[in-house]
Amino acid sequence: MSNLLAAAAEPNAIRYQDAAIERIDKALRGGRLPHAYIFAGPDGVGKRRVALRLAQRLLCADPPADGGVRGCGTCDECVAVVSETHVDLHLIHRTLAKLHPDPDVRKRQALELGVDVVRHFVTEPATHQPARGRAKIFIIDEAERMNWQAQNALLKTLEEPPGASYLMLITTTAERLLPTTRSRAQTIPFARLPDEFVAEQLAARTELSDAEIGWLAGFAQGSLGSAMRFAEAGLHARRTAVLDLVFTVLDDALAFSRDIQALIKKTVDDGVITVEAAGSDSAVNRATQRLVLAMLGAALRDVLRVSAGGAPKAYAAGDAGIERLAGRLSPAAAGEAVRAVARSETVLEQNANVGLAFDSLGIEIQSAAN
Ligand SMILES: [Zn+2]
Repeated sequence: MSNLLAAAAEPNAIRYQDAAIERIDKALRGGRLPHAYIFAGPDGVGKRRVALRLAQRLLCADPPADGGVRGCGTCDECVAVVSETHVDLHLIHRTLAKLHPDPDVRKRQALELGVDVVRHFVTEPATHQPARGRAKIFIIDEAERMNWQAQNALLKTLEEPPGASYLMLITTTAERLLPTTRSRAQTIPFARLPDEFVAEQLAARTELSDAEIGWLAGFAQGSLGSAMRFAEAGLHARRTAVLDLVFTVLDDALAFSRDIQALIKKTVDDGVITVEAAGSDSAVNRATQRLVLAMLGAALRDVLRVSAGGAPKAYAAGDAGIERLAGRLSPAAAGEAVRAVARSETVLEQNANVGLAFDSLGIEIQSAAN
């Protein structure tokens, strides 16, 4: 059966995460399940679904004797977990601020997961016995959005989780968690999904062309969540505009600087990255700069691949723009251009002057090419 048919037959199947699931399974079988886990990995690869499976296993009235990270699937507990209504299953998200008893907390924008939410919805309830006797599960989504006060408030619970409490922190960027948080939980890395699987999923869920799907799957780097977001935002329609930037820079570095800033502004205006997703208006600009630079980097890496005699990864095989650029850039020049893009990402992280940063990126790519 193809992956696609398998996925259709079992829509909640968690695929390509055998290593992560096996580690949890081993801990369960050995009776050494840690009370705090960090599930780290790209968006949309199954972290939350694995957390819910583990919750089901821990809350199930009659877990299967042959083990595994799953409940029986049919008892009242399992059914309540699947419908996310179990009283001992606490799903924590920054937007819970809107349900906080304090009106001041409710009024906040809730872009961060704040200390008030952590205290009211995690550390305080964790001190109580489970309502139905078995365990108390806290699944914290977007854990990297906990500010340091929130993480500090959580430390004691992470260190000495009351009796039957289990915490699962879900994050795309574990490195944004404080070292003190990370040291008190066991981190399970979740793998990137294969490009072909992401492409199959996109094909099943969208009406896009093969070339568009191929680009999205290659650009999303193993994250189905990112690929779907990029598809919804229409990012694939900009893959040619990014190649145009490379053609421009070969002739005119400053025109490139102007054009890439215009493309970034247009991408901001189109709302490809929302304030809700980024955290603040200035973060939207920064995240969009990173996104467009990542698109430029992906294009240049494909030019490098083709120039070195290989096949492109994001762009379609035989893409006219990539072929022409590969004819103009030697592998060494394309490699240097890729490194220049990576350097400019670092420069922009350091709050550099944006115009100057793109001017010098243009000059660096141009001089690499000549
Ligand atoms: Zn069950």
